[in-house]
Amino acid sequence: MSRPATPRPGLRDVAPYHSPQLDVVARLNTNECPYPLPDGFVEELTARVRATSLNRYPDGQMTELREALAASVGHPVEGAWAANGANEIITELLLAYGGPGRRAVVFEPTYLLHSRLSWLTRTEVVSLRLASPWILASHDVAAAVDAGPDVVFVCSPNNPTGNAQPVEVVAALAADTDALVIVDEAYVEFGGRTSLPLIADHPNVVVVRTLSKAFALAGARIGYALAAPEVVEDLERVRLPYHLSALSQAAGIAALHHAPAAKGILDRIRAERDRIVRELRAMSGLTVHDSDANFVLFVPERPAATVWSELLERGVLVRDLSAVVPNALRVTAGTEHEVDLFLKSLEEVLSG
Ligand code: PMP
Repeated sequence: MSRPATPRPGLRDVAPYHSPQLDVVARLNTNECPYPLPDGFVEELTARVRATSLNRYPDGQMTELREALAASVGHPVEGAWAANGANEIITELLLAYGGPGRRAVVFEPTYLLHSRLSWLTRTEVVSLRLASPWILASHDVAAAVDAGPDVVFVCSPNNPTGNAQPVEVVAALAADTDALVIVDEAYVEFGGRTSLPLIADHPNVVVVRTLSKAFALAGARIGYALAAPEVVEDLERVRLPYHLSALSQAAGIAALHHAPAAKGILDRIRAERDRIVRELRAMSGLTVHDSDANFVLFVPERPAATVWSELLERGVLVRDLSAVVPNALRVTAGTEHEVDLFLKSLEEVLSG
């Protein structure tokens, strides 16, 4: 009989990343797109899958997908890269630019995975805290530079607060450091300006995006990076062989061919997001934050955990983010029907 193996120090202190996937009427906790892409997408995807030889490894260079991604944003293909979600892109960036003896700066409150993946890749994390409304200023840039980073994360629009960061401040950060500045733009299509034009003058900037949100493709797991060509060459050095399956590549290409349909969906989601902000501001007992994303952060006067469970009793699942922003809840802009149910339920819960 042997004993169970011992994992790396600290591993058992890490809570597995987990967001409830409950079967409720309104699942508004993970910032997914509530609408699928149209039938034409499914037909194209089916035809592409039929034409795929799954006995063969996929195109390791992801040529067609990278060309489609690059063309969709007007960026050179040599500077475009794809992986299994923005999370894998970030992991690859940290494998290449972080690691033992190297340091990453994160501006909190922000997306948990930036520090989690830094830890996973043995990159030291320096957390700098922003105060509400969480807008990056020049003194934050100075503090980040002082920390002596190899990587700096900027999340814009930021999850979970919803605000976008000023591009001129990101530019100042990129100019003041040789660190890799990772601008996580998972929600950029919903609002806020992009840092993409900075790459031309600042090859230490990489923009990370995803097809999971605005492109309604969370199930296919496709994220991408837009960067200087040498960053992409470094990613090729760390990625696993053939990391993006032929099925994922096919789904990404087909989705990009249906970009106009995705844009139509985007308008509806933005309208619902704005309606949530308006209606919540008309309720008493709440603080509501502006949003450039497809979700809204709000802070009830009642305990967030109570509001969360009373919403769930009414079939509405939101995200309790009180561990990140005191007593805060985050709601994703869903369909009109889902938002109606959320608003009606919240009103009941707050008056209860
Ligand atoms: N960045 C941010 C800010 C996110 O909120 C998310 C998803 N919740 C991701 C990256 C990961 O996206 P993907 O599904 O492409 O891995």
